[in-house]
Amino acid sequence: MPIVDAHVHLYPADVDRDPAAWAAAQGEAHWALLCTRTRKDGRRVQSLPTLAGLLAAMDAAGIARVVLLGWYWEKPETCAWQNRFYAACVRAHPERLSAFATLHPRAGRDAVLAEIRRAHGEGLIGLGELSPHSQGYPVDDPVFGAALALAAELRMPVNLHVTDPESRRYPGWIGTSAEDFVRLARAFPATTFILAHWGGLLPLRDPRFASLANVYYDTAASPLLYPNNVWAQALPVLGADRVLFGSDFPLNLYPRVAVEAEMAQFVAEAKAAGVSDAVLGGNARKILGLP
Ligand SMILES: [Zn+2]
Repeated sequence: MPIVDAHVHLYPADVDRDPAAWAAAQGEAHWALLCTRTRKDGRRVQSLPTLAGLLAAMDAAGIARVVLLGWYWEKPETCAWQNRFYAACVRAHPERLSAFATLHPRAGRDAVLAEIRRAHGEGLIGLGELSPHSQGYPVDDPVFGAALALAAELRMPVNLHVTDPESRRYPGWIGTSAEDFVRLARAFPATTFILAHWGGLLPLRDPRFASLANVYYDTAASPLLYPNNVWAQALPVLGADRVLFGSDFPLNLYPRVAVEAEMAQFVAEAKAAGVSDAVLGGNARKILGLP
């Protein structure tokens, strides 16, 4: 069963030359806080591999396909820029790469809807990773709502960043309330939502999530956020047919043992936890309509 990693980020090579300077020039301070941060030992929390580096990491881990997720940028221009980059990536490697488009409602309703249609026409298959809480708009923002409605019409699932309210605080930590996700899922029942990072484990504490038929979850950044019994704890509650394997590459998920981000160890962790082929790829293929 081919493995699909449903949560990967990628940037053009020129971003990696000087990520902090690039972010400052673009006005993307929150990304810089999360993605150019260094640990106490001076190592960066994440490397910024090129497309070739990503493909090599996939090969080493036996991952057949990844879904590139856009970042929740602060600027509409950065969103459009990344969408074009992802469209080019997917065009170059359609057998290995799929991609979601990102957006910022501040662009205005017409521009946001046009951008989504353009990205859809370029072969992008979802929206996200979005984070109203980090991008600075309320979940009931009307432009965001129009985007979610169009996503349903175009059958583009929407990946949303979720923070576990009980998680360890890190620089750039932003709270995301359970109430907001429940409201969104209920207000847009035809839209498919994928709540990242095990949905912040919100469904383990809030029974309302069990009734949300249009909500799925991914496992992004799991080893950094949770002990590895999270598979046994969360899968039965969230539902093995609702969880998509996703890494959050190129975050370094195992900083104690790995110098740079790679993908094989997380695949091994999932397999050791006994997860099903559905979680490792079947659910993503079904929900995202992948080959
Ligand atoms: Zn996230």
